[in-house]
Amino acid sequence: MVVVMQERATEEQIAQVVARLVEMGMDVHRSTGVERTVLGAVGQGLPDAGLIEMLDGVHEVLRISSPYKLASRTFKPEGTVVMIGDIRLGGDEVIVMAGPCSAENEKQVGTTAAAVRRAGAKILRGGAFKPRSSPYSFQGLGEEGLRLLRDASRAENLKLITEVMDLSQIELIDRYADIFQVGARNMQNFTLLRELGHVRKPVLLKRGISATIEEWLLSAEYVLSGGNTDVILCERGIRTFETATRNTFDISAIPVVRKLSHLPIVADPSHGAGRRDMVVPMARAAVAAGADGLIIEVHCDPDHALSDGAQSLFPSQFDRLMAELRIIAPAIGRSICLEPVARRGWS
Ligand code: PEP
Ligand code: MN
Repeated sequence: MVVVMQERATEEQIAQVVARLVEMGMDVHRSTGVERTVLGAVGQGLPDAGLIEMLDGVHEVLRISSPYKLASRTFKPEGTVVMIGDIRLGGDEVIVMAGPCSAENEKQVGTTAAAVRRAGAKILRGGAFKPRSSPYSFQGLGEEGLRLLRDASRAENLKLITEVMDLSQIELIDRYADIFQVGARNMQNFTLLRELGHVRKPVLLKRGISATIEEWLLSAEYVLSGGNTDVILCERGIRTFETATRNTFDISAIPVVRKLSHLPIVADPSHGAGRRDMVVPMARAAVAAGADGLIIEVHCDPDHALSDGAQSLFPSQFDRLMAELRIIAPAIGRSICLEPVARRGWS
């Protein structure tokens, strides 16, 4: 249930409504907007909305048909901006995260990090724990990979995002990364999501391979209801009957999520398309559709990558894509890192 207070509701009236909701067994989350206060009440059972409507200072009570509440735009009409250090994700600027699928060795991570930073990325991506379809594929370097990623991100003044696959990795990853990535295969690992509700760092939640948008937002709700409000959604393609691309990149999810939720949404055209030649057009389209950011696989030598080489861009392709995004973003009223960072020794 969402309780929208009147524009001039007093603190005392708000407190009385909160107290009544708590008495009814609800957990109340308050959102103070520019014009009015909105109370999100979450709990078991269906409290009588009419009783709340009668209270002083209440403008209206909305019974939300959607099962998620804290993730819904009704709860928080203005969009959420997630801060990653001084980076604002969900504001005007389109934020680009880029880097290899997996950390492989010092040279690969360092060279790729330097290239993406010079092109204008603000966040380094890279996996140390890899969820591979086959147990015989490269599984990632574990803590050694985290160390390589952290060192390269620090050297290049980039923030770091990396995937957490399991509860047991949270503490370790927390020591190295700035954002926890929850992969598509773990979107419904509810034990992991609940625990990430208690961390003090942003969580990027990828859409599951066959998840509906409602299921995805319910997964976000697990993190939000644990008290972590910094959730970033990520569309990465879903499985359909189409086989021409690795997944079907659901660009329509971007405006749909924007309508349903206040959470920022980024797009991962790399896993969406699965082929290098299609990543660039999908990235352009995602920004044009209103994505708050992109996460893109880039590798200094993609043809020899240990994972996802076919969909990893060459640094020069990424450079060109960033130049194109500098034209697309302003055309729809967004900004993006304006100038490529001065070249230092990259040819
Ligand atoms: C990845 O980002 O490398 C990855 C494994 O992504 P996804 O969970 O979307 O498959
Ligand atoms: Mn990958």
